[in-house]
Amino acid sequence: MLEASFVWDDNFVTHLPDVDEQHRTLIGLFDELARTLFKLEGRDDAQLADIYARLLDYTAFHFREEEDMMVRIGLDARHQQVHRSLHQQFVDQLQLLWGQRGTMSDQAATVAGFLTSWLGLHILGIDQSMARQVSAIEAGLTPQAAFAQEQDAHDQGTQALLKMIGRLYAVLSTQNAQLASANQSLEERVAQRTQELAQANERLRELSRTDALLGIANRAYFNERLEQACALSRRSRRPMGLVMIDVDHFKRYNDRYGHVQGDGCLQAVARAVAGCLRRGTDLVARYGGEELAVILPDTDAAGAIDVAERMVQAVRALGLEHADSLVADHVTISAGVFNGVPAADAPGISSSAAIVSQADAALYRAKEQGRNRCLPG
Ligand code: GH3
Ligand code: MG
Ligand code: MG
Repeated sequence: MLEASFVWDDNFVTHLPDVDEQHRTLIGLFDELARTLFKLEGRDDAQLADIYARLLDYTAFHFREEEDMMVRIGLDARHQQVHRSLHQQFVDQLQLLWGQRGTMSDQAATVAGFLTSWLGLHILGIDQSMARQVSAIEAGLTPQAAFAQEQDAHDQGTQALLKMIGRLYAVLSTQNAQLASANQSLEERVAQRTQELAQANERLRELSRTDALLGIANRAYFNERLEQACALSRRSRRPMGLVMIDVDHFKRYNDRYGHVQGDGCLQAVARAVAGCLRRGTDLVARYGGEELAVILPDTDAAGAIDVAERMVQAVRALGLEHADSLVADHVTISAGVFNGVPAADAPGISSSAAIVSQADAALYRAKEQGRNRCLPG
């Protein structure tokens, strides 16, 4: 493609042999990169990255050589400073454009256009000025005099135009850099918001599964997990446990100590019961009122009874005064245990509802037999 190539022109010759040779090599690399960018079909990213890396390397080499040469010859410091900052601006701008090229509607034209026009401007402008100062110094002028001569000599119109375009470049580069950093911070903010949203969703889900008073799973989540546990047990044919728990004589507790203290008592009972669980897959939930339910996946009869016994014992050990209880002078619970592989769903009763009934029946018997105990189903 024609617009990609850099047309060498006699005006570019600086008559500094090293500089001219490096400029030609640089232009060769620019053209190679531009040609690869314009090769729309079968563009080879690895090849492109390779040319880009070589271009950056060579640019750094050439800029260094030029800057060293200016020091060696002793060019006026004001010129050196501007010249170095233009070099830096080019490198920054090229890296920025390269990083953004994926978002450009026409990356080939934009990148190639930047390269060719920047290089043209640079060589015609400041490099030619550098070359004139070098030959003036070699002819016997002081660096300051050579620099001063640059201000009035030569084609004023062209010089003014070159300066103006240079300033335009500087403004555009700054804007481009600001845009890129604004874009990046926008992306960062979006990423952060997305993460915060995901966390908020997670908290919300957690909340929707939790009983507000007791801080354990609620009835809805219990139902969900019980279904899963039943299905797993039936599929694996390994037994599971379900423990239904009810606080003994809790009406009397409320009547004596008030509902607020009753709430606190339930919280302590829930903590004590939850503290008896050992596996991450076990779940304690508030089934309703002052009733708790515990799911014990993949647990045999001895294991399930053992857990339920420990819970009864743990609540006893709290030693919460209950002066009006008819079974002890402290708060106690009763528990009923189901253990086994749940039967298949039957008409009118699901396998999970059936095992809740069985554990409930055992709980009822525990109450009948004097409370403050656990019984198997
Ligand atoms: P039993 O030993 O037969 O279980 O006697 P009980 O008095 O505990 O009888 P029951 O289980 O039927 O009564 C439960 C009582 O628990 C009724 C209700 O006032 C009380 N209760 C249920 N939920 C809460 C709660 O969130 N806070 C308080 N303070 N009391 C509750
Ligand atoms: Mg009850
Ligand atoms: Mg009760």
